[in-house]
Amino acid sequence: MTKNINNSIEEGNLPDYDMETLAVRAGISRSGFNEHSEALFLTSSFVFANAQEAADRFAGAPGGYIYSRVNNPTVTMFEERLAALEGAERCLATASGMSAILATLMGLLSAGDHLVASRSLFGSTMQLLTNVIARFGVTISFVSAVDVAQWRAAIQPNTRLFFVESPSNPLTEISDIAALSALAHGANIRLVVDNSFCSPALQRPLKLGADIVVHSATKYLDGQGRVLGGAVLGNAKLLDAIHSFLRTAGPTLSPFNAWVLLKGMETLALRMAAHSTNALALAQWLASHPLIEQVWYPGLTSHPQHELAAAQQSAGGAIIAFSVRGGREAAWRVIDATRLISITANLGDTKTTITHPATTTHGRLSAEQRAEAGVGEGLLRLAVGLESVRDIRQDLERGLNMG
Ligand SMILES: *Cc1c(COP(=O)(O)O)cnc(C)c1O
Repeated sequence: MTKNINNSIEEGNLPDYDMETLAVRAGISRSGFNEHSEALFLTSSFVFANAQEAADRFAGAPGGYIYSRVNNPTVTMFEERLAALEGAERCLATASGMSAILATLMGLLSAGDHLVASRSLFGSTMQLLTNVIARFGVTISFVSAVDVAQWRAAIQPNTRLFFVESPSNPLTEISDIAALSALAHGANIRLVVDNSFCSPALQRPLKLGADIVVHSATKYLDGQGRVLGGAVLGNAKLLDAIHSFLRTAGPTLSPFNAWVLLKGMETLALRMAAHSTNALALAQWLASHPLIEQVWYPGLTSHPQHELAAAQQSAGGAIIAFSVRGGREAAWRVIDATRLISITANLGDTKTTITHPATTTHGRLSAEQRAEAGVGEGLLRLAVGLESVRDIRQDLERGLNMG
């Protein structure tokens, strides 16, 4: 591997390139063939020149590879590019978003520790905390995503971590990342932010004071619905314990998926701008529609945390929640009348998706828990893709006009 070929952007050579440039150029490391596009290294292991080199590599000598569970050149390129985009000292790639979250919790928590988490979490994250992590002697308090006073009140002497997603799913609640960081650091607690909904193109939590960022790269980093992947980012020292969990437990990113993600990231800024423009136009139209009760979109001035969103995000993102008059029947009618929009709970794709949270992602909650989470029977979540706004609007209008 040679790194000193012209126009590759490496560590120490990043300073004032913009995000759009870093997304295309950062992290490139060329093989002896001087390929222009990032190479895909499909190999499980790496060979050594002699016994001494093998011994040095195993003793932790920098600069070489041993085995692809530990690291791989294509995966390293993905890690360096995403680190550049998030402004992180270090990035660890993982097999999925959930394995990024698992590795973070396993790396930073021990039996006897306490965690404070937002009540508005991705469903599998909630399951991981309550059904898995809680079995290992970690206690967890769930609090409001938007009420910093609840986080302060939940702190115990053994609290180690705060865990939050912003914007949240499905109601796009915005957590004040700078305020939560300040509160955490005053009590020697680390703040973890799941940045999957915004991606570094719209929000950079580490700049706002967060200690760790986790990603489901499956969403907007790929952006085209092809692969699973994840990442943990933060300062090198803090990530050491997470790294040793990953390399021994093994939920690391496959080189093929890393290569797809490298290609996906090249268009990240363009895609996030287009997703946000489309979503704002649709949110404004929905807000003016007589059959819509309420619209939640951070880019609308009517959003309860619009100003906070405008301060910590560069645009509103792709996710819109809206409630239809007429409850479940009316909401399902809108879904079933679509011809273009995909009926799926996934998000982070060029293709617009629609879901009814009360009977899918939030279906396992009790009626009271759903009411507490604000997930009513008339609520729909739209993850706006890159089709034309006119076509998406007509697809939604069909069901609304039947009402
Ligand atoms: C999808 C998602 C995850 C889980 O990621 P996977 O790649 O599916 O494992 C975690 N957090 C958020 C916010 C997500 O949207």
